[in-house]
Amino acid sequence: MEKKPSILLIYTGGTIGMAYRPDTNLLAPVNFEEISQQLPELKRFNYNLRAVSFDPPIDSSNIDPSTWVRIAETVYENYQSFDGFVILHGTDTMAYSASALSFMLEDLDKPVIFTGSQLPIGILRTDGKENIISAIEIAAATENGKPAVPEVCIFFQNSLFRGNRTTKFNAEYFNAFISANYPPLAETGIDIKFNFEAILKPAKGKKLKINTRLDNNIGILKLFPGIKSNLLRSFFNIPGLKAVVLETFGSGNAPNAGWFLDEIKYATSKGVILLNVSQCTAGSVDMTKYETGKKLLEAGVLNGYNITTEAAVTKLMFLLGQKLKEKEIKLFISTPIRGEIN
Ligand code: ASP
Repeated sequence: MEKKPSILLIYTGGTIGMAYRPDTNLLAPVNFEEISQQLPELKRFNYNLRAVSFDPPIDSSNIDPSTWVRIAETVYENYQSFDGFVILHGTDTMAYSASALSFMLEDLDKPVIFTGSQLPIGILRTDGKENIISAIEIAAATENGKPAVPEVCIFFQNSLFRGNRTTKFNAEYFNAFISANYPPLAETGIDIKFNFEAILKPAKGKKLKINTRLDNNIGILKLFPGIKSNLLRSFFNIPGLKAVVLETFGSGNAPNAGWFLDEIKYATSKGVILLNVSQCTAGSVDMTKYETGKKLLEAGVLNGYNITTEAAVTKLMFLLGQKLKEKEIKLFISTPIRGEIN
């Protein structure tokens, strides 16, 4: 007899499990029992489904690296007992969490699927039911006896995306996420169509390893016309600052005025890692195209290529946490390690 797939649901919180509090009339997370009552469909799966829940569940705006460690450890501790994992999570920071987990879970060979919803599960028109049901089916799906998607992903509306390629771009419609620089790993309609060409192959014969050391001594600095040198100087003088995601214009361009480049050189000469990430959602940094980009390269700024800000932030936290040498961090930051750039 064929073995039933076993899936672990990890409920962290988010709109999917929220209800209006009668006293404040504001949305806040409720516990998993209340969600499962709204989801009798879960009983119809011919799978071994188990759930663990954060207590209390949280709005994902409150998530920080310690939460990522909790999720990573829960996956790790249950790894041998389950075929796949579905993480119910708020949409606001889901792209950060999925990116972080992709770096923390090394040599993953099972699916870890994040999902959530824009409307709470208790609301008639909720998008949560379809999202959970499809995410569970995807987590259980196999191809030639092996997990179909051995990656950290986000499933939302009809698309399965690589987690570290994803950005929340819509706070209103059900298609809340995009992956502008990488194709979907699967799309759901009548059937679930996997894009096997785009899915990472797991490393053979390696065991899952978790990296739980993250260093959040980093910042994001978004450039804008009119930015002043005192803002840059104050930012680069933040005590303990180790790395900055520099959000630049277009294909990685920034002012090439002397005062601006002096501030950039001030940071790089202090050993602060500056990673060039475009403010544009689609396309890639190319610091060899314009004079305004080339000057950044000469000042020691590193190329983030087509990485999302979410993946850049979490990759830096991960690399800094590994206590690597500066040379190694610089090498890894511009090299794909979990399919986050190309
Ligand atoms: N504030 C909610 C959260 O991220 C939003 C959502 O889940 O859609 O937890």
